[in-house]
Amino acid sequence: HRKKIIAGNWKMNGSLQANAALLQALAAGLQVAAPACAVIVAAPAVYLAQIQALVAGTPIALAAQDVSAHDAGAYTGEVSAAMLAEFGASHALAGHSERRQYHGETDAAVAAKAAAALAGGITPIVCVGETLQEREQGQTAAVVARQLAAVIDLLGARTRDIVVAYEPVWAIGTGRTATPEQAQQVHAALREQLQHADAQDVCILYGGSMNAANAAQLLAQPDIDGGLVGGASLKAQDFLQIVAAAR
Ligand code: 13P
Repeated sequence: HRKKIIAGNWKMNGSLQANAALLQALAAGLQVAAPACAVIVAAPAVYLAQIQALVAGTPIALAAQDVSAHDAGAYTGEVSAAMLAEFGASHALAGHSERRQYHGETDAAVAAKAAAALAGGITPIVCVGETLQEREQGQTAAVVARQLAAVIDLLGARTRDIVVAYEPVWAIGTGRTATPEQAQQVHAALREQLQHADAQDVCILYGGSMNAANAAQLLAQPDIDGGLVGGASLKAQDFLQIVAAAR
């Protein structure tokens, strides 16, 4: 069976002091109760070096929140997969809805980022999800299928090496979680699409107002293989409770 993954997406939060306090609390909690799942934190890139040292010897793995589609060169402000790997990142988010919405990332750009991540030794966590308007217009299945298809078309057999995160945009930061049934329905469709690409074992995470109270129910769904947690990942006790719910 697929090993579950709980990933915290800190977004643009943190400081040297806050990161140290949060990671010390997480490491202590995980020492008391060893996780049955993989545990990842996605931090702002500038903190990777700090966090690499703090997570050494703990089960916590490190992710970046974005990755360049390019290897190197005249791309001001970008950070390459090889650079992320040098600072201990094993994963990078690609195509988070906030990147798509505020930074104009297209399906093609997200696919290119996923490809560059893999080429640089980083596992991309490819995010897909519909807006409220798209859901209300009955377009959910078509939207997420289109977003994932762009990645599958570019990666081919390498699709097996990615992680997918389904994050309905209307559930992000709103306190309005998808019901376990709503999420499972989309995850099952994504699984089928991955199956056609011979990548049925890819982990599909759910994200969007996941918290200590609703995690167990979501994670009990057959095609929900973990969580991508925003707000609740900034509170050690909440995040640890979500990790404990993933077995
Ligand atoms: P929230 O858990 O704060 O809704 O954020 C979800 C998310 O966007 C994780 O990437």
